[in-house]
Amino acid sequence: MHTKPDADALGSSLGLAGYLIKKGHEVSVIAPTDYPDFLKWMKGNDDVTIYKGNEELCDKKLGEADIVFCLDFSSLNRIDELGDIISCSSAIKVLIDHHLDPQDFADYRSWSTEAAATAELVYELIKDLNDEDLIDIGMAESLYAGIMTDTGSFRHPSTTSRVFQIAAKLVEIGVDVNNVSRQIYDSNSLDRLRLIGYALSERLVVLPEYRTAYFKLSADDLKKYKYSTGDSEGLVNYGLSIVGVVFAATLIEREDGVKMSFRSVGDFSVNQFARDNFNGGGHRNAAGGKSDESLDEVVDKFEKLLLRYKSELNNECVD
Ligand code: 5GP
Ligand code: MN
Repeated sequence: MHTKPDADALGSSLGLAGYLIKKGHEVSVIAPTDYPDFLKWMKGNDDVTIYKGNEELCDKKLGEADIVFCLDFSSLNRIDELGDIISCSSAIKVLIDHHLDPQDFADYRSWSTEAAATAELVYELIKDLNDEDLIDIGMAESLYAGIMTDTGSFRHPSTTSRVFQIAAKLVEIGVDVNNVSRQIYDSNSLDRLRLIGYALSERLVVLPEYRTAYFKLSADDLKKYKYSTGDSEGLVNYGLSIVGVVFAATLIEREDGVKMSFRSVGDFSVNQFARDNFNGGGHRNAAGGKSDESLDEVVDKFEKLLLRYKSELNNECVD
């Protein structure tokens, strides 16, 4: 799964792992980095190995692997140092993913940008193998969490009738919809809420001439609110919720550089924007990127870029 895994990356991986274990395989799940506590309820979570800090163990596991499944990312630079290890590995590589423009590194792939979530593709894979009956509640909850979050709780344009059919099937298997949603969305710390409040009141810049809103958070801001992984998740959506705004971003100073999240409505491709300017990518309406420059430099570059995209941003027809 990709760095800083979200519910889809972790949920699709644990759903697939649960299935492979039932088929008698020996399975290791590796996350490149740690992830938020609000995901740690998933079945199989206790057996996930975090690469950072367990490099030797992970190198060994990968060295011994016959097959490596890569879930919820489309290029190897999304998994940091693990990317080199996997590209050199002689194991069979299987990509299961729904991001745009996949890199050509896998031997097999189940890839579709039509899929709302990687968890949806994992479900379809198990179904196509006629093993739907093997999906237990734990697997179903993990897959459901991936679908729920990647569709923005069944609100994004990716929410097809198929998504509802799969969600319905997972609920039939026993997913407690309210419980999964509470675990993920209603487990805020007070510090996180205060950070969001602070970001909204002090760190939100709205540029109506570009129909753009962005948040800028410095390392000091994060420290003040005892930032922990996942605390800024969803912040970018507040920017996009402003009437008239078609492009929103968060620019956040982390230990290893500035991390950006981009969201758009309509045709403006944040995937392309992130790829062309910030070494990133993702989907048309949700993408991310990173930079080694200082926060102020990144903000400056971001604002200057808006000028270049001004007509594109203003051509968006959204009601
Ligand atoms: P988020 O903003 O929630 O971190 O990510 C939004 C989407 O963009 C996700 O599908 C995520 O996988 C992708 N994404 C986020 N950051 C990066 C990045 O640095 N590079 C690439 N290629 N994709 C990213
Ligand atoms: Mn995903």
